[in-house]
Formats: sequence, C-alpha cells, structure tokens
Amino acid sequence: MPVGINFRAGRERIGMVVNSLVVTEMHTDSPDAWEAISELLRSTESRLESDLAFCRDYPPDPGKHPATTALLKEYVKRVEILLDCSRRGADGMKYLAQNHPYLTNEIQEIEGWIKRRKPNMPLRSLSEEDQDALGDWLIKYASSSYSKARQFVSGVAKSLRPKGAPSKRVQTLKILDARLANGWSYSMLASKMCDCDAKVHNSYCSERIRKRLKELESVLSKYGIHFKPADSVKYP
Ligand SMILES: [Zn+2]
Repeated sequence: MPVGINFRAGRERIGMVVNSLVVTEMHTDSPDAWEAISELLRSTESRLESDLAFCRDYPPDPGKHPATTALLKEYVKRVEILLDCSRRGADGMKYLAQNHPYLTNEIQEIEGWIKRRKPNMPLRSLSEEDQDALGDWLIKYASSSYSKARQFVSGVAKSLRPKGAPSKRVQTLKILDARLANGWSYSMLASKMCDCDAKVHNSYCSERIRKRLKELESVLSKYGIHFKPADSVKYP
C-alpha cells in the first residue's frame, strides 16, 4: 500500500523535493517510495497542464522574441516528459530517475527566466510542518535513517530559502530578444530597456546589461540554444 507524503507545499517546492529524492537515491530500497514520489508529483499535474496550455495558446512571436521562443520550446519539451512520467506512476518515476534526473530542476530554472513572480506570492520556503512531514515519510517509507533524513530535509530547505533581491531575469530575456530581433547594441539596449532607477542610462548600465546577457546566454547554451549576436548587431 503506497503511502504519500503529507505535504502541503506548492509546485515549486514539490518539484525540488522530487528532484532531490530522485537524485539522492533516497528511495531505492523501498518500492512503495517510488509510488509515493509519483503521487507527490501527480498533485502538481493540473498546474503543469495549465502552464503547458498557456504556452500553446499564447506562443511568442518568433521574429520579435527569438530567445523566448527557443527557451519556451525547451520548457514545453521538458514539461511534456515530466507529465508523461508522472502519469505512469512508479514506473514513470524510475524512468525519470534513470533518464532525466534533473528535469524538475531544469523546469524551475527555465521558469525563473520566463515567469514573473507575482509581488504577493509567498516566498519560497519549507514550513516546519512540511519539513517534519518529509522527514517522517523518509524514515517510515524510504528506509532512511534519522540522520540521513535530517540532512536531506535541511538540504531541500536550504535550496528553497528566499534569495532576497527581486529577479531581473524576465526583463533580461526581453532584452536579449530585443538585441537579437533589432540588432541593438548594449548602449542602445541600455537607453531603451535598462530597468535601473537612474533617469539617464550610461555606460555602467550598458556594461551591466552586457553581463546579464552573458549570464543568460550561458544558461541558454546549457539547453542547446545558441545565437550569434555579433552578426545581428546593426546599431553598434
Ligand atoms: Zn540604467
């Protein structure tokens, strides 16, 4: 009789827990644990499905938003695999662990670039109750020792701790879209799109934008997305 984890966390937190369970092989000696992980993931299915539907119903214009288009394609691919694994129960979870152990982490990473966090959304964290529920479950059903369970739970809680400064990633992706679509230089991008508080945007702003785009490009390359911005700069 598979027993689920009594866990009231949101999708982001569940994704992180599933990923950690799959990666650390905390579960392998208990067949029921696979079923429980899949149950946990299944509780996020409707959210995943509606995100997928949104991507399909409102696709970005590839001419105006080439980077967003490419990244969304990778996102959709991954969400489809995750949904498929989730629907296949314990077998799907074993397949996920063997073939795509970092899938939920990748989905969350991509979401950080495409989804703006609503200002009133609760911060990412794991409540004491959730930490206890997860720890109890690990000891009872994943044949974990207390010390291993404690380590696991504190690792997940730490990775979910709020990061402080609001993310500028969504805007950074838009800036890259504009650079690729219009061939704008960094100083042009700074004057038109810089999100700092200054009234006039100067060379420090262009330099910051250059660094942000570099960071984004290295994330994109992890997902096999490569652009040649140098070719497209028409207004240096
Ligand atoms: Zn600025």
